[in-house]
Amino acid sequence: MIFILVINAGSSSVKFSLFRLPEKERVIQGSIERIGTEAARLSWQSGSALPWSVPCPVAETGEAISRIAALLKDKERGGIGSIEEIKAVGHRVVHGGDEIHGPVRVTDQIKELIRRYSELAPLHNPMNLLGIEACGREFAQAVQTAVFDTAFHATMPEHAFLYGLPWELYQDCGIRKYGFHGTSHCYAARIAARHLGRRPEELRIITCHLGNGSSVTAVEKGLSVDTSMGFTPLEGLIMGTRCGDIDPAVIHYLYSRKGLPMSRIYELLNNEGGLLGLAGIGSSDFRDIEAASLAGNSRAGSALRAFFHRVRKYIGAYSAIMGGLDALVFTGGIGENSSTVREAVCLGFEGGGMADACLPGVSLDLEANRSCSGPCAAVHSPESLYPVLVVPADEEAEIASQVEELLRLRA
Ligand code: AMP
Repeated sequence: MIFILVINAGSSSVKFSLFRLPEKERVIQGSIERIGTEAARLSWQSGSALPWSVPCPVAETGEAISRIAALLKDKERGGIGSIEEIKAVGHRVVHGGDEIHGPVRVTDQIKELIRRYSELAPLHNPMNLLGIEACGREFAQAVQTAVFDTAFHATMPEHAFLYGLPWELYQDCGIRKYGFHGTSHCYAARIAARHLGRRPEELRIITCHLGNGSSVTAVEKGLSVDTSMGFTPLEGLIMGTRCGDIDPAVIHYLYSRKGLPMSRIYELLNNEGGLLGLAGIGSSDFRDIEAASLAGNSRAGSALRAFFHRVRKYIGAYSAIMGGLDALVFTGGIGENSSTVREAVCLGFEGGGMADACLPGVSLDLEANRSCSGPCAAVHSPESLYPVLVVPADEEAEIASQVEELLRLRA
């Protein structure tokens, strides 16, 4: 038997999923959250067994990986017994700049590259690297591989990734759009094409990954040609706590007129903006904002409308640059779970402009939209100009597929 282990080492958590080939069946998945605190816990679920969770006070990423290795070795707790059958570990890495175009084997050069781009992803790349080092020790028999969030967007043309800044800032400092959530957009577009029975090369797809972090991507012939996140994941849509697109002059104003130091402004844009800052109910959770709006909180209503408007604006822009659209796909915690969001984005929303402000040509099957489930659900009606699909995000499955392909692993 052959297994691929997928590891996502974040700033305070390590998530893992183990896949058995050739079916790519997920045999066990889980996480250690709140690493470095007394409250750290290991949670997991294997097969159809009930989820389980135990205290696991680990100090850092390396220790967390050792605990995960011990769990995988423990058959009694849902593990597979021997970890010798794990042939590859696929690591999620956030930033690979414009140098990485697909999945790679981890070499000393790749580690050096991850280190180099830590400057642009200081919360993620160093942790991803710690995960890689620890897995190299714990799963020494396995090939260590990396799948980068930026890789899918490496196909963006220059006219999409350039900012209107002095050329030297791009050339010497690498200041350009990179894009993120690439693995999720790639997966959503691939599953959508498969559902439609078409080759990705024939399609123009817009994928909307709407979650705590949100982004929209234009996928033409299977390749990302533009995406809403930029140099960092701060650009684009209004997110849980991130502001998304703003006039950069706001930063100068806050600095020079309001006397805020740069670090404070950066904190405000990243952690105090978005739905949290607009709604002001002390939560960035979309369900809380929706509930507050329904209960009559007008700021929560304004926050939702600003969120919908921005998503619609990007869909319009990306349809224009691709010269049309063959499928619209929703994914991410909000995109896949909220029928209200899909309705508001596709059909317009109260106070959002013309009474009948549908995206051009789109028509939803309202019942299908409310009850959709499964790995890919169609929620449009027959007269819609193009399909509207809901694909639950599964970055781990996409990483496992890419690693399988890279190493040509066969059971
Ligand atoms: P993610 O970052 O992809 O895990 O998505 C997290 C976001 O999805 C949070 O803001 C949740 O409130 C939101 N979410 C999860 N389930 C629902 C739902 N049923 N309706 C609306 N939003 C949801």
